[in-house]
Amino acid sequence: MESRRIGRRELLGLLGSGVIGAGLLACGDEPAIVVSTPTPAPVATLSSTPRPATTATVTAALTVTPQGEVTLLRVIDKDRGGLARDYVPSDLVRIEDRWAVPGFAGQTMRAEAAAALVRLLDAADKSGTELRVRSTFRSYGEQVGTFQFWVDRFGEAQAKRESAPAGHSEHQLGTTADISSRNINWELLTPFGDLPEGKWVDAHAHEFGFAISYPRNGEAVTGYIYEPWHIRYIGTARAAEWKRSGMILVKFLEQMNVPR
Ligand SMILES: [Zn+2]
Repeated sequence: MESRRIGRRELLGLLGSGVIGAGLLACGDEPAIVVSTPTPAPVATLSSTPRPATTATVTAALTVTPQGEVTLLRVIDKDRGGLARDYVPSDLVRIEDRWAVPGFAGQTMRAEAAAALVRLLDAADKSGTELRVRSTFRSYGEQVGTFQFWVDRFGEAQAKRESAPAGHSEHQLGTTADISSRNINWELLTPFGDLPEGKWVDAHAHEFGFAISYPRNGEAVTGYIYEPWHIRYIGTARAAEWKRSGMILVKFLEQMNVPR
């Protein structure tokens, strides 16, 4: 754990020195070189129409491109579920900047996931828990840079514990978000899970359709260290089932028998 902290300070140093662009995230699997969104996207607000959490609705939202089989419930890990180099969800919308971590405006997600995330952040706020979003959709190209960044600094073995090879990041699905709080300096670090904000996410994310992909002590199954900040939208009905099951997300999704 200590080596991770040192690594992050190093990253912050690089940021401060201007060696790395200001969009670089000093955190878990997220040190993406964030590029500005080239096209204006619709903004997801609380007025976005909530969708009924029925299986039928979720299924209807599954296929989003002619490439097909890019689904809310797709099994995706380091070895399976690879996404095409040119896969970009067709329904990305921009999340209102007031929900973003300072300096990380312009976050985009698929429309349904974006609306759900805004509802989650708003509900947290109303309960006195300040959460903001730091990273969301990442393209294949951005993930190439993210992964290479970690390989260059810590070697491939360590990079793989914290970052996904391009095409194998849940962030490319456009349904995944990394969230953080002021109390951890808006960073994405494991101790977030022990803060009241992290505990709130653990207790309530499923109510908004999100699952925590990489739980504590799950590395042998997921291949990733504990990432209490990384949540993936699977729809409220499925998320409720997942929570009840107590399963690690990737195992739960395998059971869904979704085409891969
Ligand atoms: Zn993440």
